[in-house]
Parts: sequence; C-alpha cells; structure tokens
Amino acid sequence: MKIICIGRNYVDHAKELDNPIPSEPMFFLKPDSALLIKNKPFFYPDFSTEIHYEVELVVKISRLGKHIEERFAHRYYNEVGLGIDFTARDLQRKAKEKGHPWEIAKAFDQSAVLGRDFLPLEDLGAIQNINFSLERNGEIVQNGNSKDMIFSVDKLVAYVSKFMTLKIGDIIYTGTPAGVGQVAIGDRLTGKINDKAMFDFLVK
Ligand code: ZN
Repeated sequence: MKIICIGRNYVDHAKELDNPIPSEPMFFLKPDSALLIKNKPFFYPDFSTEIHYEVELVVKISRLGKHIEERFAHRYYNEVGLGIDFTARDLQRKAKEKGHPWEIAKAFDQSAVLGRDFLPLEDLGAIQNINFSLERNGEIVQNGNSKDMIFSVDKLVAYVSKFMTLKIGDIIYTGTPAGVGQVAIGDRLTGKINDKAMFDFLVK
C-alpha cells in the first residue's frame, strides 16, 4: 500500500509556514514502515529536535483506478480516518534550502500516525464538511474542517491518479489546517473527528 500525503491544502497553514498558496496540489509519499497504529507510543527520534504534529483527515482508496476524472473520484473512496503527519521541521527546512527531497523529514518510522478505525462516509455526511481536531495534553491545538481545503478530496484523487495508479487500501493524508507545532516527550496527543476519539497516544 501507498501512503500519499498532500502538502499545503489549507490556506491558513500555508501562510503560517510562509509558503505560497499553491495553484495545483502538491504531494509526497511515506513508506508503509512509517505507520504508527493502535495508539502505540511515538518515540521521539534522535535525529531531530523539532518534531511537529500535523493532524489530517485520511481517505482510504476502495477501488483500483488511474487517470480518474474528478467527477467520478467519489466512487474511489468510502471511508475517512484521522492521522498525524509527523514532520521533522528542522530537517525539512534544511532539505528545502538545498532543494533536496523531503524523505528524511517526512517518511521516517512512526511518522504516519493512523487512528484505529475508518468511519464510513455514509455516516459522516459530505466529505467536504467534516470537523476534526487535535488535542495536546487536553488542550485543542488544531481544529479544522474539510470545507476549508484548497483542493477537494475529489480533486486530489484525480490529480494523484494522473501520476500513479491508486490501489485498494492506499491512503491519502489530505493536508493539515493551521496550528501545527512541536511535540515534546511526555505529551499526550488525542485526535477527534467531530467528537469521536480516533487516536490517543503518548510521546516517549
Ligand atoms: Zn502534512
């Protein structure tokens, strides 16, 4: 399976990192070895001193497709989950300066947190109106709604599938709203879709 991550898909987040508002989607990949599931602890890696959380809605691909047209894209997913795209911001900054790829900043072990369940879209309602949030030690640090995406999920599915075949079980992290920040050892991170807890784990 592939883990596809969309960058800069919320205006407020692009601004907080001083990035321009994109005119087309931007994505990168994480390997399946990056997954952190079942509320297992995240172990702060020794290669970074600036690990940031980015809470994101995650869409699971349910049907094989390539060159998917936007108007048919909704047929290729039917469940939504919640995850964190952990980012070594210090390494990412250096990579950006040098024009290097982002893998060491984005694709390291445990960098793709994924909540326990995916929720059926038929229970959630419209894909472009889903509330989600991240709490750090009980305090809300990120609060988003998919209506604020720059590129809709259908647009993302269409765009990614121009370049790579989407397979059943592939997942797409759809970008983070504003409020990204650092984690510290001892933190507890809780993610919710509406008021339903999707993950809850410790940083060790
Ligand atoms: Zn992200």
